[in-house]
Parts: sequence; structure tokens; C-alpha cells
Amino acid sequence: MSFSPALLSLDAVGRRFESGTEALRGVSLTIAAGDFVTLLGPSGCGKSTLLRLLAGLDRPDHGQLSWQGAAPAPGEIGFVFQDPTLLPWASAAENVYLPLRLRGVARAAAMPRVAAALASVGLAGFAQARPAQLSGGMRMRVSIARALLTRPKLLLMDEPFAALDEFTRHKLQADLLAWWQEAGCTIVFVTHSIYEAAFLARRIVLMSPRPGRIADDIAVDLPAGPARRLDPAYATLVAAITRRLEETLDPAAAPA
Ligand code: ADP
Ligand code: MG
Repeated sequence: MSFSPALLSLDAVGRRFESGTEALRGVSLTIAAGDFVTLLGPSGCGKSTLLRLLAGLDRPDHGQLSWQGAAPAPGEIGFVFQDPTLLPWASAAENVYLPLRLRGVARAAAMPRVAAALASVGLAGFAQARPAQLSGGMRMRVSIARALLTRPKLLLMDEPFAALDEFTRHKLQADLLAWWQEAGCTIVFVTHSIYEAAFLARRIVLMSPRPGRIADDIAVDLPAGPARRLDPAYATLVAAITRRLEETLDPAAAPA
């Protein structure tokens, strides 16, 4: 259990789209400041919808979302998608600078911060490289550097590593844990990989198929970092989540 103060809470949140699709129903969740929460569930269960609500890009039509204290200022919420969404004609440095440029920060003032952000994600020598000259993993590093540049309180990540090969993904997962600890931010990370959820999380929120509801909420009390993958308790956790996920997919399989 975490005793950190709450960052934000959802109370009985529902979202039904104009098309009639009910994406979320009765979602109540309090996210603690500084936590690393993975949202795990099958495709179409409303994970991206929930992230968009947390980001303020969409509004619930039932229930409430409330921030502890002041609502976040621009830049206090970062978003990273599966697609790194980089400008193809611009260098890595220009891509990372973009959010500051949009906020009117002069290039000369921003560049030291941009260089530091690129260095912190292991791309110190690649500031002038264009996206096409970078590997998929490096492009994702640029995307994460851009999101961290504004020092967000809350970093929302929507299947950021889903398109990467397994070796690159393992490396980025381990690096992300280090960046999270360094940044001291809160991360909500969406995935449909049980292994990824179990490796990264301090807390796993398991969602049921549509309409998305919270099927389980698992506190993970294992050390964070590469050693976790080899810990027998990690394998036990993966097995427990697999069983719970199968129960949510097939309620008849749930024990009475
Ligand atoms: P996930 O990210 O878990 O795969 P989504 O949150 O993207 O799921 O979508 C949940 C459900 O809501 C899906 O059935 C999807 O087709 C539907 N949906 C998502 N966005 C919209 C939208 N803007 N309008 C109508 N239906 C939508
Ligand atoms: Mg999604």
C-alpha cells in the first residue's frame, strides 16, 4: 500500500460515446503522487479512453474526476503514444524543443534543457539526427525526452513500447524506471502485455472487457529494476495476473 498523498481521483466515472459505445462504466480510482500505475486490459476495454480523461482531453459523462489541489497547468501532464509522433523533417533536438517553442520559450534559452533531456535518455550524440536516421527505440527515447522536458507531474503513456522488438523494449522498460525515479513524477502506463505491466508497476489496475470496469487492483511489492524480471516472485505475479485476466474474459471460469 502507498501512503503518498493522492494526485487525482476518479469517482464512478463513465463514458459513453455519441455512437452509443459505452467505453467505461463506474470507474473509481485514486492515483497516489509519485506512483507507477499500469493499466492492463484487453484491446477495446477503454484504456485509451481512460487516459484521455486523465489528460483532460475528454470529459466523463458520469461521475467525477478531481485533482488534489490545483488543476494541472499546461505542461504538467505529459503524453507519450505508441507512435513517437516526431516531425520527420526536424532534428531530435528540434523535436524535443517543440513544446517549449509552442509556449514561446526562445531557442537559445531552451537548448541547454533540450540537450540535458536528450542526454538523460541516452541520446547525447544524436541531437542533430533526424527521425529517419534513428532506430525505433531511439525515436521513442526522443518522444519521452520531449514529454519529460516540461517536468510533468503526471506522465501518461499509451502502449509506448508495443511496436518495439523485445530486446529494445526490455531496455526501454528498465530505463523508464530510472527516469521515473529521477523525475519523481507519477506515471500511468497503459499496456496489454502482462509481462510489461508486472515488470513496471508498483500498482496494476486490471480492466475488464468493454464496458471497461476495474476488475482488480494489485499492489506490487517487488524491487523495481532489471532484477525483478529474474525474481521468482515476478513469475508468480505474472501467473496470478494471467489467471485474473482469464477470469475477467470468461466469468464462468472464475471460482465460485
Ligand atoms: P483500448 O485503448 O483499451 O483498446 P479504447 O479506449 O480505445 O480501448 O476504446 C474503447 C471502446 O470505445 C472501443 O470499443 C472503441 O472502439 C470505442 N471508442 C473509442 N473512442 C471512440 C470515439 N471517439 N467514438 C466512438 N467510439 C470510440
Ligand atoms: Mg488504446
